[in-house]
Parts: sequence; structure tokens; C-alpha cells
Amino acid sequence: MDCLFCKIIAGDIPSAKVYEDDTIYAFRDINPQAPTHILIVPKKHIACAADLTEADGATVGHIFAVAAELARAEGLSSYRVVTNSGADAGQTVQHLHFHLLGGRKLAVEMA
Ligand code: 5GP
Ligand code: ZN
Repeated sequence: MDCLFCKIIAGDIPSAKVYEDDTIYAFRDINPQAPTHILIVPKKHIACAADLTEADGATVGHIFAVAAELARAEGLSSYRVVTNSGADAGQTVQHLHFHLLGGRKLAVEMA
């Protein structure tokens, strides 16, 4: 499959990996929007949050648990986890990913 993040997970494209296990992979964003900007992705190709089902619940819970661990490891007392689903929400890579952002005061903006 011609998917950038599948290639990163497979190691075909280099990335600054910060965490990996059987089901998820985490690496630093190439264009960081905050001092800490990590992308956490399921190894299974899921295009976006809109394609998640109840069966993915354990994976999503695991992603949030690892996000908390990584935030602690980065020394963050506050952080944001966000996923963009669809072009108008800002999704540019069609493999589900959660942005872990922190290290500066983040604007509270919902739109
Ligand atoms: P989106 O806009 O889809 O929510 O987020 C995609 C993110 O992937 C962006 O923050 C972008 O900087 C990041 N990104 C795109 N290509 C690469 C890459 O080749 N390597 C890494 N590490 N991040 C990438
Ligand atoms: Zn993929």
C-alpha cells in the first residue's frame, strides 16, 4: 500500500522513533508545532478516526496510555492529544495518527 506512515512503520522511510510495540509506533513530527510534537499511530492501517469501530477500542485506549507515558518522559505537566479526520479538519496523511503536543502554552481553540 502506498502509505507514508505504513512505510515509516516498516522502516522503509526513516523516522525519529520514540516508542514501538506490537500494535503502535510513535515518532517525532518532521515539522513540529510545539517543543514536543510526537505522532502516535496504530501499526494496522486505518485511514482516519472516522473509520474506527468498537473493535479498535483497545488500540485507542493503548494509544492514550502510551501518550501519557511519553508525556511524562518528556517532562510535560500539560499536553494535548489530537487527531484530524478529513481534509477540512487538516488531515494530510491518510493513516490514523494522534498528535501529542506540549512544552509551550497551547491556544484553546476548538474551530
Ligand atoms: P495531519 O495534518 O494529517 O493531522 O498530520 C500529519 C503530520 O505528519 C504533520 O504534522 C506533518 O508534519 C507530519 N509528517 C508528514 N510527513 C512526515 C514524515 O515524512 N515524517 C514525519 N516524522 N512526519 C511527517
Ligand atoms: Zn498506512
